[in-house]
Amino acid sequence: MSNNGGVAKLSDTFGALTFTGDVMRRHLPEDAYEKLVHTMQRGLPLDPAVAGMVAAAMKAWALEHGCTHYTHWFQPLTGHTAEKHDAFLSPDGVGGAIEAFTAQQLIQGEPDASSFPSGGIRETFEARGYTAWDATSPAFIFKTPDSATLCIPTAFVSWTGEALDKKTPLLRSIQAVSEQALRILRIFGTHKGVTQVITTIGSEQEYFLVDRSFFEHREDLRLCGRTLVGAPAPKGHQLDDHYFGAIPERVMAFMTEVERRLYELGVPVKTRHNEVAPNQYEFAPIFENANVAVDHQMLMMQMLRLVAERHGFVCLLHEKPFAGINGSGKHNNWSISTDTGVNLLDPHAETHTNMQFLVFLTAVVRAVDLHADLLRASVASAANDHRLGANEAPPAIMSVYLGEMLSDIFDQLAQGGAHSTKKRGDLDLGARTLPQIPRHAGDRNRTSPFAFTGNKFEFRAVGSSQAIAWPNTVLNTIVAESFDFMASELHKRVGKSASPAKLETAVKGLLKEVVKKHRRVIFDGDNYSAEWHKEAERRGLPNLKTTVDALAALATKKAQAVFERYNVLSPRELEARVEVNLERYSRTVAIEARTLISMLKREVLPAGLRFQTELGHAVAASESVGVKCPGTKAQLKRVVALLAELSDAIAAVEQAEALRLAEPLARVRHTRDKLLPAMAQARNVSDALEQLVPGDVWPLPRYSEMLFVK
Ligand code: ADP
Ligand code: MG
Repeated sequence: MSNNGGVAKLSDTFGALTFTGDVMRRHLPEDAYEKLVHTMQRGLPLDPAVAGMVAAAMKAWALEHGCTHYTHWFQPLTGHTAEKHDAFLSPDGVGGAIEAFTAQQLIQGEPDASSFPSGGIRETFEARGYTAWDATSPAFIFKTPDSATLCIPTAFVSWTGEALDKKTPLLRSIQAVSEQALRILRIFGTHKGVTQVITTIGSEQEYFLVDRSFFEHREDLRLCGRTLVGAPAPKGHQLDDHYFGAIPERVMAFMTEVERRLYELGVPVKTRHNEVAPNQYEFAPIFENANVAVDHQMLMMQMLRLVAERHGFVCLLHEKPFAGINGSGKHNNWSISTDTGVNLLDPHAETHTNMQFLVFLTAVVRAVDLHADLLRASVASAANDHRLGANEAPPAIMSVYLGEMLSDIFDQLAQGGAHSTKKRGDLDLGARTLPQIPRHAGDRNRTSPFAFTGNKFEFRAVGSSQAIAWPNTVLNTIVAESFDFMASELHKRVGKSASPAKLETAVKGLLKEVVKKHRRVIFDGDNYSAEWHKEAERRGLPNLKTTVDALAALATKKAQAVFERYNVLSPRELEARVEVNLERYSRTVAIEARTLISMLKREVLPAGLRFQTELGHAVAASESVGVKCPGTKAQLKRVVALLAELSDAIAAVEQAEALRLAEPLARVRHTRDKLLPAMAQARNVSDALEQLVPGDVWPLPRYSEMLFVK
């Protein structure tokens, strides 16, 4: 290991705690190694005989690293990861113990399925569930200062084989994209040497850091991950002085540790910077194949939380921790590529001649138009509603940004064929010492929920705390359907073997039809603007503002058909996900409501009363010596009035929260229409009071304290 002032070179530690590459080669016999690599790279079933050798190798490697336990690591419908640790220790029958780990223990686990959300698939008495080894995502060792655990990525299914997790449908959707995309490649004759088409993901993670001492004094942050009350700080992001600003030293120490530990786990974090809001930051990795990227995203969130604590911070992954301040999202960069490394969404230089690219691109646009409601539903949560439904980018209306060059080609396609590609040219910066830099063919658009950015799409509506498996599962499924449509249409039009000329005519005809039908979903302008909301309505694009509206889309026949057709989810599995999400929505808000009531009653109201008493004493003291104090009296009256308003507002939240509706749909509607507005009203009163009450009486850390880490 090279030494650089005591710090190991990052490339030397990359993947050091994963069972991949050299580690695998070192611990496995040659042919077992080859077979495992085949499975990992090509998704081929693993020879059962090899599993025994892999288990032995993993055990040896894990013990070298001081592991005492192993766990099947999976992603239940909670949105978090789950793990149950088993010791390697096994009694040897003669009073001692050995370390054991068999093929069976590697391949299959049997956690109790009844305590995970199943959306009605499993009753508590039908507890059996299985975890099954996903050999395509590398096992890793998770270390804490006092422990080391071998983690084996797994899928989680019920005894009936139904998916109880997020990985199983993701893997199915990846397969669906591959099968349908391969059909298109075969039509163009570009399939030679390609065994599968993979989807690639690079997901940018936004997050906030707050000092742990503040966090501990706020019940809302501790229980809900967001502030439920809090008057705005005098300064927010008006000056745009945080974005890309110099990273504070304490934050840099935190980021450096996150990076180092993620590198060891093989997570290729690449970019770090300050985001728009004060105390908001971002990490972005280099993209990877979808299944691994999804697992790595879960590790990224876990690591951010864990390392923050070690640096005296708390990492808030919530979509909207602070009202009135930019929220956090997770830009999900997504593309498709052959397993030989060809990006199928790369437009190349003379894009108008790149028929295959145009077919793939148009298919994605078609998918978003046909299933905008499903995409919206895939990112629906109580927390994300604060971004998507509110005045923040992106809006809840799903549209596609193509940029100038591709929009121009789309215009041409609608006329029957594209004949030119707009050129990008160079930028002359005016100072001779600066280089001429090439310009992209299209500008950037930061407000679009689904933007084409060079050679990939960027789905920006995903929430910062969300597991990305589900939005990508939905995206893959609707895209697979569109690839299927394009392939089948082309087959119909050209038959089995087409001459290049015949194929070109068929493609042009098909693209013309599809572009004309679906171009309404394309929008390159400002997605924030009120005009766009009106225009989108005129175009008939859905605007599903809340989770309640959005989840209904998953319960339609249309949704069932597309998930079932590509074997991603059976109707029952889909229904289960709707149920889990509805329940999560009302439970999340109910917890917030109870926390708000507790804070208002135990902290805000008493503080207000204390101040009222103080003012009362001041007025009495002043008047007793014959000095009039109209200003203080007016202030007293204002405080008394606000406290009366606050008591009413608390009662309204209590009343709305106390209503127990059995029917899930009625419950979520009540939550949206009654409980949330009551909470907002109570917050307004509390925030008004906060602006009057003196600092030494106000019991909660304020926005202006929490938001400016130095
Ligand atoms: P930004 O959008 O912040 O300007 P970049 O364009 O550098 O950032 O890339 C953002 C993310 O997109 C990175 O995580 C990167 O790895 C990912 N990305 C780049 N190419 C692809 C691809 N072909 N498929 C999926 N993700 C990609
Ligand atoms: Mg981005």
